[in-house]
Amino acid sequence: MASLDRIRTKGFRHWYERQLVECHAWLLSWFLGLIVLISGVELVGGSGLDHRGGALLLGAGLLVTLYSWRRYRLMLEIAERLGEQAVCPGCKAYAKFSVESSGPRPMPDGGDFVLEGQSGGIWLRARCRKCGDEWMIK
Ligand SMILES: [Zn+2]
Repeated sequence: MASLDRIRTKGFRHWYERQLVECHAWLLSWFLGLIVLISGVELVGGSGLDHRGGALLLGAGLLVTLYSWRRYRLMLEIAERLGEQAVCPGCKAYAKFSVESSGPRPMPDGGDFVLEGQSGGIWLRARCRKCGDEWMIK
């Protein structure tokens, strides 16, 4: 995932903040799609061009709401999951780590992301900048 490179280059806090901004932009997109969908529902009851236009709006609104909601949930889930693990186990410093290695797969401990149900198999090997402790974020 390209956006994970931001953790390496700009730090976890910047990535986390950016992730939440993008995620809520998808929530706004979901809301706008919902307005389009409801407009389509109102027009679909009409006749002639209104009926066809309403069906088109309804379909487009449905696609936008479904896709936006999925993106919102996925991005929020990843941000929450990584955020919960961004605490150094040694000194309890939050988000003060550098990324030693990362990837979608395979995980260094041999784990299988499909079996372990991890979204996209994202993992990071983090090293604390304060105490030097290392841990896995997955
Ligand atoms: Zn530490």
